[in-house]
Amino acid sequence: SEAELATGQALFRKPAEFLKGVVAMSGLPDPDRVEFCFAGRSNVGKSSLINALTGRKGLARASNTPGRTQEVNYFTLEDRYLVDLPGYGFANAPVAVVAEWQRLMRAYLSGRANLRRAFLLIDHRHGPKAVDEEIMGLLDTSAVPFQTVLTKADKVKASDRAKVLEKTRATLAKHPAAFPEIVVTSSEKGHGLEDLRAVIAAIT
Ligand code: GDP
Repeated sequence: SEAELATGQALFRKPAEFLKGVVAMSGLPDPDRVEFCFAGRSNVGKSSLINALTGRKGLARASNTPGRTQEVNYFTLEDRYLVDLPGYGFANAPVAVVAEWQRLMRAYLSGRANLRRAFLLIDHRHGPKAVDEEIMGLLDTSAVPFQTVLTKADKVKASDRAKVLEKTRATLAKHPAAFPEIVVTSSEKGHGLEDLRAVIAAIT
């Protein structure tokens, strides 16, 4: 609605600020604010989306180096925390890096009382892959409600659009923690950003 869109605009009018990068649960800020997180395969367009949402180029940096330290990045957005989780699904990630990612994600997702929602980013060209379904399972068992955001909508072929949406819906139907509503975005073209801001602003 108009009112929801206006609330979303208002939330993102003040600049989001980088707070800290965290590599262990002990480094997390006190759970004294509502928080929501962004997760997705590396290269899904997570940094681009966070930058587009906040209007701050370079706020979130892509970490496209498999093997480098994986950080949970905290940003403040008015009275909330916006959390950028390390990307997953690197093609040639060392086993130890994958294991460390899983350990950190399990701990974070099951242990964060103020975490209200996860946004799971999925490339609109491909729909959910096996690694995305794995994290959906983790979100289910951790009882973290998650909402799917399709990215790079400008790149999906018109002939594939409905098919990928249908496949995505069918996958979400299998996951109890999934919101059925899908947000379709393009950071490049600005599509869906207002909708996503409104969804975020409605999280209490
Ligand atoms: P991350 O690894 O998930 O943070 O992904 P990035 O945000 O770094 O994006 C990965 C690549 O996809 C970059 O080359 C971006 O320019 C590109 N990209 C991200 N979002 C979009 C989009 O909405 N449309 C298009 N066409 N390209 C995008």
